[in-house]
Amino acid sequence: MTAANLTLPGTSYGDAGATELFNPTTGASFTQIGAASAAEVDAAIERAQAAYLAWRDVAPGTKAALLRAFAAQVTEHRDELAALEVLNSGHVLGNALWEADNVANVLNYYAGAPERHAGQQIPVPGGVDITFHEPLGVVGVIVPWNFPMPIAGWGFAPALAAGNAVVLKPAEVTPLTALRLAELALEAGLPEHLLQVVTGRGSVVGQRFVDHPLVRKVCFTGSTEVGQGIMRGCADQIKRLTLELGGKSANIIFDDVDIEAAAAAAPGAVFENSGQDCCARSRILVQQNVYEKFLAALEPAVTKLVVGDPAGAGTDLGPLITARHRDSVTQYIAGADIAYSGSAPGGDGYFVAPSVAMPRGVDDPIWRDEVFGPVVAVMPFADEAEAIRLANDTEFGLSGSIYTRDIGRALRVARGVESGNLSINSHSSVRYWTPFGGFKQSGLGRELGPDALNSFSEVKNVFISTEN
Ligand code: NAD
Repeated sequence: MTAANLTLPGTSYGDAGATELFNPTTGASFTQIGAASAAEVDAAIERAQAAYLAWRDVAPGTKAALLRAFAAQVTEHRDELAALEVLNSGHVLGNALWEADNVANVLNYYAGAPERHAGQQIPVPGGVDITFHEPLGVVGVIVPWNFPMPIAGWGFAPALAAGNAVVLKPAEVTPLTALRLAELALEAGLPEHLLQVVTGRGSVVGQRFVDHPLVRKVCFTGSTEVGQGIMRGCADQIKRLTLELGGKSANIIFDDVDIEAAAAAAPGAVFENSGQDCCARSRILVQQNVYEKFLAALEPAVTKLVVGDPAGAGTDLGPLITARHRDSVTQYIAGADIAYSGSAPGGDGYFVAPSVAMPRGVDDPIWRDEVFGPVVAVMPFADEAEAIRLANDTEFGLSGSIYTRDIGRALRVARGVESGNLSINSHSSVRYWTPFGGFKQSGLGRELGPDALNSFSEVKNVFISTEN
């Protein structure tokens, strides 16, 4: 399916104007999407509350069947969803297909929950004590532009499975797949208004999720700065909150591994999605005695990457999301000491060539800031203690990798690095059946995995007397 034969999903919102969408591959404007006003958001939240009250009481088996039907719809429309993401976000086609499949997988995984999310029976004198997992009500999910489909699914699938209704705000520039997913939910038979996508500005739509008392939880993924404001806002109502924020993760390479193989794998850990990945291992730490060897082996792995049309077979990296973001990334690269770069097409698309930087020290912005583009900084370290110290010298703590054949060292370093998601001798990405989230300013709470349901519900304790 190509952009030419796609039917674009629309929105009924628009009291606060519209957002123009640009194809990042060509720089051309291709449609406009309406922006909701605060009053329109409030109406959507009220509709969601009514849908929640009915959904809460739907039989667990029926909920499960509907979530599986939704997953099946997503799978049936994976080509269309992927084509929308290529057009709207510039994602490489293979990645976009994986992202659509991830939504279906997460729905299927949490479709197992309504029949299994059981409480406890706790021994007490004089009666019986039981616990229930009660849904929260309306959950507001706020999604960034870098992974519009998976991050939407990580919020709405467990929220719906736990018995809540969802209002979801996609990023201004990437609303199309979320809008289509909401249509597919309806086509699958999910009740009307149970999953609503409200398009518009963060400061209007997202802010109403924070301020409106009927929204009982905000599930936010985005920048640390916006997350801090949301956390402050949620404090007013002690509103439940999950934050998935920025990252500046380390890939630590010890001298006892196959250095060529570690260098060949490193670009995949940082340049995926053109580096617009919160889990990007954008700092590489290499043991001093193999540092030069690693840098030499990394060069061909970087320069061979194909940057270009995301719909094309054989493309490794697509464009960045907007002209503004491209300019921010190219400024970082211009201000850094670059060892070598790959190539990228010219023209009006938002392409940036992948680059390897030599940081001038730990305060160099290329080493410290989340650049969110195809640039990686490489620094040597002397020993295990220094590797851990450098890896932890950041306000973030989301992801990371450790390459060593020494199992004791691998586990010591994994325990020492302050980060929520680590891979040993691998750059594994997020698995939907394992927990995901950040330490320090990378976030609060965990998504995915078996425990995510608990953050979309409250435990209620009930004591029944057997003596009256
Ligand atoms: P952003 O913070 O600018 O925007 C994220 C979302 O918040 C958007 O939908 C935006 O409209 C909305 N928003 C903006 N202002 C708001 C406000 N005042 N109130 C409520 N909502 C508001 O982030 P972005 O630029 O879209 O995404 C990139 C960032 O997301 C990076 O920092 C990246 O690391 C992070 N991210 C984190 C994870 C993770 O799981 N930890 C995953 C993906 C992206």
